[in-house]
Amino acid sequence: MTTSLLHSLQDRLADPAIPWKTVVASSVLAGELFEAWVGSRQRRFLDPILAPTLPASLKPYITGDDAHETHSKSQAYARHKLTFGSVVSAISLVETAVLLTDVSRPILRSLGLSVSTAPDWTLLRIFWDAAKHVPGVGGGAGAGEIRQTMGFIALATLASTLLSIPADLYKNFVMEEKHGFNKMTRATWVKDLFKGLLVSLVLEVPLVAGIVKIIQWAGQDAVLRIVSWTIGFVLFVQLAMVLIYPSLIAPLFNKFTPLAEDSPVFPRIKALAQRLDFPLGHVWVVDGSTRSSHSNAYFYGVPGFPKHIVIYDTLLDKSKPEEVEAVLAHELGHWKGTHIVYLLATSLAQVAFSLSIFSLLLSNRHLLASFGFAPSLAAKLAHPVAPPVGPTVIALYLASTLFSPLSSLLKFVTNLVTRRLEYDADAFAAKLGGGYARNLKQALVTIHEKNLAVYGVDHVYSALNHNHPTLVERLEALDAQLDKAGEKKVE
Ligand SMILES: [Zn+2]
Repeated sequence: MTTSLLHSLQDRLADPAIPWKTVVASSVLAGELFEAWVGSRQRRFLDPILAPTLPASLKPYITGDDAHETHSKSQAYARHKLTFGSVVSAISLVETAVLLTDVSRPILRSLGLSVSTAPDWTLLRIFWDAAKHVPGVGGGAGAGEIRQTMGFIALATLASTLLSIPADLYKNFVMEEKHGFNKMTRATWVKDLFKGLLVSLVLEVPLVAGIVKIIQWAGQDAVLRIVSWTIGFVLFVQLAMVLIYPSLIAPLFNKFTPLAEDSPVFPRIKALAQRLDFPLGHVWVVDGSTRSSHSNAYFYGVPGFPKHIVIYDTLLDKSKPEEVEAVLAHELGHWKGTHIVYLLATSLAQVAFSLSIFSLLLSNRHLLASFGFAPSLAAKLAHPVAPPVGPTVIALYLASTLFSPLSSLLKFVTNLVTRRLEYDADAFAAKLGGGYARNLKQALVTIHEKNLAVYGVDHVYSALNHNHPTLVERLEALDAQLDKAGEKKVE
């Protein structure tokens, strides 16, 4: 039943009358406009004239003399981030247009390059052809599809890193700097750029090549097979990442030092772990402060083995020991509730959903031909009955671009899940009694104040962009827990 439905959809999409270029462009634009509309809804809450004071719901919690100043600083920072975000997405829209049309053809010509005059010429095709010649991975002139795919991903990763440089420089050294968060030196930034590029290459090239290989094995038409096999592969990669990220990748970027045993936080963590039967391994302090003054904490580890706790030095600096302990009680709530399983399941469901939709287009000759990937005459002569469809990685890219508005919908769903888990972890900490809820409330207020995150929030914007409930939502939920337990809301 599902299979025949999928096949009839595939057939309909194979209609040569579909103007793919127009369809892709309209879809991308519609997605952009939707995001811009959502962003404009948030702007009202960040306007010093429309929202001159703290939202009423925050007033009871943020009471210091500088409350008003913190609010206007928060608004200014959030406005800056919002504008920065719209500029970045406008730039990426332009990049997509350049890649998928022939606007760059006259420029390449004027540089003296011989460029084909074919009507479906795209820069994307030039990249794909060049991919064979990427040293080390591309495979050279006679390369097979997998080697060329590897070359293509390497090229795409390099290009996107280079293109992201100006925005990233601006973000760290202008925006974050201006609002007092950047702690990074130029040298650290350059080192991070190279390390980030290397990590992306090492992870993405084999990942995408693996997915393309799986699609080849399954057969481009076999939607259900593609989806189930790829899910297995992605799950394997995700579990491997749970293992290698904290011990191999995170230390590339940050320094982890054991929390001093004479620190006032140490005995509190030990007692809490003992109380909850948490298999405590190391307690690390990470030098988050070398890059940013934003603060946090988390834990990691493999099932059946000791788990390690990581606390940002910025959190230790800004919060009292009992507040840090309450934040860790929240983190251990994530552990007790096996939230990682829900997160993995959500992300796999997302991959399955996207891939089922993308699979409808993997063997779509007209889509590929519209962007410069029609089979050559030689290929048609060699395979008169069934000429090759086109590179799978390109079909995947085109499909993901076409369905990019769907990613907004998916973000909304993931945020629903992560928010639920945050409430659960907060409730877990609150149920421990003994002031945990009050200390967590204070810690949350401090973190939000120091991170300049105290302003009103539009609910549509929040649903789409925030993976945590807002400060007010969390404080209200904690108050409800305190009410239930008959405890005082404030000390
Ligand atoms: Zn959490």
